[in-house]
Amino acid sequence: SVVTRFAPSPTGFLHIGGARTALFSYLYAKRFGGKFLLRIEDTDRERSTQEAVDAIFEGMAWLGLKSDFDEVYQTQRFDRYKEVVEQMMAAGHAYYCYASKEELDAMRTEQMARKEKPRYDGRWRPETGKTLPPPPAGVQPVVRFKNPLEGQVVLKDLIKGEIVFDNKELDDLIIARGDGTPTYNFCVVVDDWDMGITHVIRGDDHVNNTPRQINILKALGAQVPQYAHVSMILGADGAKLSKRHGALGVTEYRAMGFLPEALLNYLVRLGWSHGDQELFTREEMIEKFDFDHVSASPARFDMEKAYWVNHQYLKSADPAVVVPEFDWHLRRIGVDPAAGPDLAAVIEQQRERCRTLVEMAEKSRFLYAELDAYNEKDAAKHLTADGATVLDELAAQLEALPAWTAAALHEAVNGFAAGKGLGLGKVAQPIRVAVVGMAISPPIDQTLFLLGRERTLARLRAAVA
Ligand code: GLU
Repeated sequence: SVVTRFAPSPTGFLHIGGARTALFSYLYAKRFGGKFLLRIEDTDRERSTQEAVDAIFEGMAWLGLKSDFDEVYQTQRFDRYKEVVEQMMAAGHAYYCYASKEELDAMRTEQMARKEKPRYDGRWRPETGKTLPPPPAGVQPVVRFKNPLEGQVVLKDLIKGEIVFDNKELDDLIIARGDGTPTYNFCVVVDDWDMGITHVIRGDDHVNNTPRQINILKALGAQVPQYAHVSMILGADGAKLSKRHGALGVTEYRAMGFLPEALLNYLVRLGWSHGDQELFTREEMIEKFDFDHVSASPARFDMEKAYWVNHQYLKSADPAVVVPEFDWHLRRIGVDPAAGPDLAAVIEQQRERCRTLVEMAEKSRFLYAELDAYNEKDAAKHLTADGATVLDELAAQLEALPAWTAAALHEAVNGFAAGKGLGLGKVAQPIRVAVVGMAISPPIDQTLFLLGRERTLARLRAAVA
């Protein structure tokens, strides 16, 4: 059965390119009822940080991309890599190379002078009939993989199609350094083998590692997985994606007010299509995702579209699903979600006019916290002498309402306007400024209902005082 993995190097936050790769891997596994694994490739100890590991977990958890296994850390597997190096040595697939750095530099300089591509010339590679010099004393040898000299590696990439590599272009890769530590490409191979990975889905910056990894897998007698190399993401202007274009960490998208499901939906469409369908539930993504419809050319990131998708989700989601995120955003701006109306009810009233949860939190602040100021322009326009008369009289009528329901408030406000021969705006706008602080809000009956009797009356009175 299908086993995929997402294998980030923890050298920075989980950016959206990585998140998309993770999503593709996750969807592909789920589509076939398989398993998805998270592997932390932390062999580069200089550049790996705990902070980055935490950011990856945080991003993956927020997106709901759950690993089906305990996370794997490469740094905890060094004994295993050593064991496989020894196995390769014993089977004659690898050999010690004692060439010093100076020697290799000189070799490369000569090759370049002859206009050749610099490559290891196999000087310590054992061959039948070849005599090797005695190992120099005091040198810790590296271990090199004995790459086949002849033939080709045919990569049938699920996205890019067939790519053929000549073995004579691939020199003998170092699999263990002089100090015994394994090298990156070798760790990946051993991991993919041990973990039974059937599909390797990763960025296409790794394409050139693939033939080397395939050769090592073959030498180990391992089943070679299938590969899907995903193209990079470009900015809307076609330039390499940078922060300016939206190359931010996944958690920054949370801070910008995206719903995780909406971000996933946006990301799945970045390079993959299913007819002209734009919106997918997670179940639909799982059911429909395939590599036949992943584009081999780079996708372009479009922030406006990401906002559009988010708005579609906000508008149609079950409010209960949005509540935890809305709660998070209210707290983030210093608002206590317990100090006001039920969050789900507020979401239903606000979502039509909010593309993000940041907007929604800002526009809902008045329901949970005291007003500290009126919008000056709106106050000048609506809190006039006439406006004050309206508010004063209306406050008295609302106070007498037996039940504080949206329907009762609707009748009271409309009845009041009709009785005075005023347009509804002449009544509703002064109320808005008085209770919201500005002349924009959900329908006035809903606004007053959510705000509650006490706060409404206090604010109407404060506005005329
Ligand atoms: N650790 C690599 C990266 O972060 C991915 C390697 C792989 O998926 O094989 O680019």
